[in-house]
Amino acid sequence: MRIVEIKSHVLEYDLPEQLGYSQQYYVKRSAHLVEVITDEGITGWGECFGPGNVARANKTIVEKVIQPMVLGMNPIERDVIWHKVYNLLRDHGQKGMPMQSLSGVDIALWDIAGKVANLPIHAMLGGAHRTDVSVYGYGMMLRPEPAASLVSRFEDEAAAIKDMGFVATKMKVGLGPRDDIKLCEAVRRGIGDEFPFMVDANHCYTTSDAFKVGCALEELDAYWFEEPIAPEDHDGYRELRARLEVNISGGEAEFNRWGWRQILENRGLDIAQPEVCALGGISEYQRVLALCHAHFTPVVNHVWGSAIAITTNLHLLASMPPMPGGLHPWEPMLEFDTTHNAFRDDLLTQPLNIQKAVKENAGRVSIPMGPGLGVEPDREIIEHYKAA
Ligand SMILES: [Mg+2]
Repeated sequence: MRIVEIKSHVLEYDLPEQLGYSQQYYVKRSAHLVEVITDEGITGWGECFGPGNVARANKTIVEKVIQPMVLGMNPIERDVIWHKVYNLLRDHGQKGMPMQSLSGVDIALWDIAGKVANLPIHAMLGGAHRTDVSVYGYGMMLRPEPAASLVSRFEDEAAAIKDMGFVATKMKVGLGPRDDIKLCEAVRRGIGDEFPFMVDANHCYTTSDAFKVGCALEELDAYWFEEPIAPEDHDGYRELRARLEVNISGGEAEFNRWGWRQILENRGLDIAQPEVCALGGISEYQRVLALCHAHFTPVVNHVWGSAIAITTNLHLLASMPPMPGGLHPWEPMLEFDTTHNAFRDDLLTQPLNIQKAVKENAGRVSIPMGPGLGVEPDREIIEHYKAA
């Protein structure tokens, strides 16, 4: 079997409202799918992390840089392909967009391998440690409105997400420590004392501001404090983790085994959040997962994007070994975006219907069992949303 073509599909539409996180507001939803075509009629699908113009640039890397390196190669030899591409790109980008681009190609190769073996990806990875997984719903994005109205919005939205059946919820912060603490208190009011919630700062704080917010989060019994400071600030992460009781999480902006080795050896994370569509795909995710577990750091995957990214993560969560194990072991969760996302709801020929499953099955969803990813995107939807 040979690779005959790699196509990149950037999809985009206007959101019904402006949403934001600590770095920017945005009005468009986008997704970047990768299609690897073989000479035997089997096609694989993958996804690259990175929105909007980043996706457009990554499309060029996929089609103009990676494709010529791998045309004619056997798609089953995904580790050979991974290392050929990485070694040729090493001098031009060991992190960032080249790795995001390679990720989508690698995921598509795993889809092909599963289809050839007639096995779901989680079986290719060694089997399912769990056949369903609990889901946390994130929402409570920032909006361009006064802090006081955001406070009441967050309280209501947190209660609504809890009512949808999710097992936990996650909010954004980014207005500055004083107002952010008010937002966190509002979320705690909205969900009551028992329900777990997490706080995502998208690296907007100085270390001292992160301490201030982190102390408030301890009082509010938040489960984790995500990306409190810049991912490059390894010393800051180590200091925060040593002095705060709330779990420090992060890693979505880290790439490949060498980047992850550094942040794990630094001991600055209680919970690791690798992003499979950015760090190097499923092949590299497996190596990063092994590194995390070698450091006894629990993993809750970062999930963003379309139903292809969600499905990829469902297979990874199924095949993730319990760490450290036990009768009632610590369990990972699926991250799920509750805001408007047509590429999550409408992309597949057979939708995942995660919200319905969450409502009906006490916050849990089952792992797809078909060969490869076990899902297929609808080509009419891809055509309909194709970005200019
Ligand atoms: Mg995050």
